[in-house]
Amino acid sequence: MNTSISETTRLWEKALKIIQNKINDKKTFDSFFANSYIYEIRGNSIIVVTSSPTAKVLMNGQYHDLIVSVVSDLTEGDYSVKVYTEEEIASEKKHSKTKEVVKEEQPDKYFAESKIKENLTFDNFVVGSPNKEAYKAALFVAENDKDFYNPLFIFSNPGLGKTHLLFAIANRYKERKHDAKVLYITAEEFVVEYLKFVRAESDSQSLKDFFKNVDLLLLDDIQFLAEKVKTQEMFFYIYQDLVNKGRKIIITSDRQPSELKGMEERLVSRFKQGLTVEIHAVDKETCIGIVKQKMIENGFDYKKVDPNVIEFFATNFSKDVRELEQAVHRLIFYATEIKEVDYITIDIAIEAIGSIKGGNDIASQLTEQKIISVVADYYNLSPSQLTSKTRTEQVALARHISMYLIRKHLDIPLKRIGQIFGGKDHTTVMAGIDKVEKGLKTDPQMQQAIEELERLIKQ
Ligand code: ADP
Ligand code: MG
Repeated sequence: MNTSISETTRLWEKALKIIQNKINDKKTFDSFFANSYIYEIRGNSIIVVTSSPTAKVLMNGQYHDLIVSVVSDLTEGDYSVKVYTEEEIASEKKHSKTKEVVKEEQPDKYFAESKIKENLTFDNFVVGSPNKEAYKAALFVAENDKDFYNPLFIFSNPGLGKTHLLFAIANRYKERKHDAKVLYITAEEFVVEYLKFVRAESDSQSLKDFFKNVDLLLLDDIQFLAEKVKTQEMFFYIYQDLVNKGRKIIITSDRQPSELKGMEERLVSRFKQGLTVEIHAVDKETCIGIVKQKMIENGFDYKKVDPNVIEFFATNFSKDVRELEQAVHRLIFYATEIKEVDYITIDIAIEAIGSIKGGNDIASQLTEQKIISVVADYYNLSPSQLTSKTRTEQVALARHISMYLIRKHLDIPLKRIGQIFGGKDHTTVMAGIDKVEKGLKTDPQMQQAIEELERLIKQ
């Protein structure tokens, strides 16, 4: 088969549509098929990628015959179909690249797998108050040759941008100094190299020598060295040597130096000598910036997304930027590849995230949001007026109607409804819903409003 990228994409789109019809269960389809794609066609085998290990098992098992028969109908050819997870493909890629890297870019025998990602830079790091300090410090060490702030120690919970900043430093530093030897490694990789030498696959001197030429060392997730006394000893030696020569060291960790249990005191005290900065949990404003940034990176214009959706993503995935990023990828993939729309409405977002982890809860919250914005629109108010404490008659009426519709259509506890509307208690919510129910029995205007609103919500 002649397989250009667009042809493969089309083939899989067609296959998915047929499979969707045959399965005829939206939830199953969305969970296991919707975010799969053809990675490659090698001879007679079609390699399909999915993000979920469960989907992989099902697609290679229970649904395998169905997939093969749909594909063979469409292609009139005899293809085998094999499904892999994104991780498997990534690791396969890494291994095949490693060989080249070892030969061409990193002639040294150590840390051959370690590579600086060129696409993570200061330019695509969104700065807000929670990460400003870390950003400025990182920028400073990347752009200045002075050796103060050595080491720079960055700590935070996972997914808040530590590794991103390390790569950003590496990239900026290399721009300034083409010949510099910049080494990014994780503490885990350091342990592996150390174990090799313990097993006498290499000798300690050559490992030490290897570090001698490093100008900039980026050590990620140092907490991994905890309790590994011998490895720490080796690291201490290397660390001292580099610092004495005025080389730069940047370290990241999931906690601050003094809280690194099982870490030698002399190392901890060295870490404290430079500058320690924390990345705090991202706030809503930064998250909105990140959602927009990730959309731009995925080639999607964020102006073509209902602002409520952006705001909603920013509020609900804000603990971990990695999760937020995955949700945005999923949203864009779903909108552009599955739905083929170029404007993302709340409804599309609800469908897109319905099948991701914890997505159902979030989808239901998005539906709340939708109900509120439809009602607000209907009464010429803003959604935030409905969830605020404003008590004017018009706002109160719209608020009661929203409560009623949310309760009726989403079946969520009154207490939760109270929370949505600015922390009202459940009796207040009950009273609001009561008013609407009474109105429905006697007031034709109320009947008409609810009828119309229900129609709009379902749209
Ligand atoms: P950590 O190392 O702290 O666990 P990462 O640096 O791996 O976190 O970040 C997780 C993901 O989130 C990465 O894809 C990264 O690019 C992205 N990310 C985190 N913070 C930001 C930010 N401020 N701006 C843009 N992307 C970010
Ligand atoms: Mg990291």
